[in-house]
Amino acid sequence: MEEKEKIVEETIEKYMKYVNPGFARLCKFANLATVEWEGKGAKVFDIFGRAYIDCIGGFGVFNVGRNHPRVVERAIEQLQRLPLSTRTLFNKQQADLAEMLAQITPGNLQYSFFCNSGAEAVEGALKLARLYTKRKKFVSCINSFHGKTMGALSVSGRDVYKKPFEPLLPETCQVPFNDLEEMSAVIDQDTAAVIVEPIQGEGGINVAAPEYLPGIRELCDRYGALLIIDEVQTGLGRTGKMFACEHYGVVPDIMTLAKGLGGGLLPLGAFVSTAEIWKVFEDNPLLHSSTLGGNPLACAVGLETLKVLQEENIPLQAREKGEYLIGKLQGFQQTFPELIKEVRGMGLLIGMEFFDSDIASLLAMEMAERMVLVAYTLNNPRVIRFEPPLTITHEEMDQVIQAMAESLQGVRKIVEELNQ
Ligand code: PLP
Repeated sequence: MEEKEKIVEETIEKYMKYVNPGFARLCKFANLATVEWEGKGAKVFDIFGRAYIDCIGGFGVFNVGRNHPRVVERAIEQLQRLPLSTRTLFNKQQADLAEMLAQITPGNLQYSFFCNSGAEAVEGALKLARLYTKRKKFVSCINSFHGKTMGALSVSGRDVYKKPFEPLLPETCQVPFNDLEEMSAVIDQDTAAVIVEPIQGEGGINVAAPEYLPGIRELCDRYGALLIIDEVQTGLGRTGKMFACEHYGVVPDIMTLAKGLGGGLLPLGAFVSTAEIWKVFEDNPLLHSSTLGGNPLACAVGLETLKVLQEENIPLQAREKGEYLIGKLQGFQQTFPELIKEVRGMGLLIGMEFFDSDIASLLAMEMAERMVLVAYTLNNPRVIRFEPPLTITHEEMDQVIQAMAESLQGVRKIVEELNQ
């Protein structure tokens, strides 16, 4: 057997034996029985050198593309000099990144705590809200996704991921997304915070209505509850602005970030809040901490990533490319009305909703055969997401569109054969 084929076979075997047999079966079934090997821009190459256009993008991680040369160069320099912190001396990279986040986040958000993932950022945000308000209750949305650690899971909105782990945090409640009346019925004087995504990513790319976030802001102010906006998936240019809440003119009390903050290179998350709220950490500065969070390597990469996002106008690129791609994808709705229910999104966070989840899975498999990676959203398997690196080229988008046209034809043929 050829060496590379042997590596693929052994890797899949090891997944079956040591990592996650269910996931291994799923990937094999979905025409994805290969090993990822290299990445550049919007492309990922497998071990055989075959190029996939990556419209999953690690669920929205590669905002500056894979292996952006400036970010890689900065990472190598920091890696060789001082990747991890003593945790006692001052960490310049952390200070610089926090300063830049204070400059680019909206309103008076000023202080940052750095961690290693989106879920950890949400955990910190929930703890900060409890500490500041001295209240316990959290309100969030049905179909929301905030991570899979216990606190983040407690405020997430899909039972299938929650039920096996109950009891979770007490005093949490979920209301339908985009419904201000339902929201106003549950926010009260006991509410520590409302946590909401401007666009529900895993919920199926559900975009907040223009009045929704301002309405929640008003309700939070009325009852003295904090507003946590979870920008883990929508932040850092993805939706056509640096932060999605800017489309709505709303400033949160706490913002959570992760995914793209690590430049597509490293894990890095953060929660950011105001000086007034941050005062509660003053009495005991170690009340919330993380050994590896905010390490110099990740923060150096985060800072370079933010500079690249700004200097290369990446949010604007996402807006323009998103308009192009969503227009083309919406065109397919007219050609395949029996398959596609709706195409929606903002910037390069786009969802294509099918009438049936099996159709969505078939479509993803057809796309993989044509070397384009797409996947369904975690809380709504009828929706196929498009979250490519924001640096995707027009030529690559046209390849995606061509693959989509052929894949939809392929799916139509299968469905017609099954119905005969
Ligand atoms: N919040 C949102 C909005 C997310 O989309 C995700 C992950 O998809 C998370 C939090 C959790 O992030 P992580 O998977 O890095 O823990």
